[in-house]
Amino acid sequence: MADTIFGKILAGTIPCHKVYEDDRVLAFLDINPLSRGHTLVIPKEPAETLDQLSDESAAALGRVLPRLCRAVMRATGVREYNVLENNGAGAHQAVLHVHFHIIPKPGRTEGLGIGWPAGTLDREEAAALAAGIRAAAG
Ligand code: AMP
Repeated sequence: MADTIFGKILAGTIPCHKVYEDDRVLAFLDINPLSRGHTLVIPKEPAETLDQLSDESAAALGRVLPRLCRAVMRATGVREYNVLENNGAGAHQAVLHVHFHIIPKPGRTEGLGIGWPAGTLDREEAAALAAGIRAAAG
């Protein structure tokens, strides 16, 4: 198990407020919530970033994420929410173990605040870029 705070939670050496567990996935409350019900969903596989995760763990996470979103919404009574997954320190990842945040958005000042510096997409550059990503995706 990788030596991160989430690795220690998985190993049982530090506690968490568990909300869900199966063979491949654990979910627990975030210790510094952006809003009430802020939940973290992690694979048991110790991958640092999403691109490093196995198909099996990815499938297990994908299978339970919508159900956990419904559970958080039902338990908090909040209907709107964000799902966030950061990869790399420059992208605000503090814990180097893959984790999805489920963050209820009860109002304008609670929950996730997002900066969204949108640009424009040049048609020719977009065609080349999409082709490059298609080729890399296989
Ligand atoms: P990120 O910036 O995406 O890496 O988010 C890491 C998250 O882990 C933060 O929201 C922290 O509040 C949360 N966190 C750190 N340590 C713990 C812990 N021991 N139990 C629950 N959540 C934690």
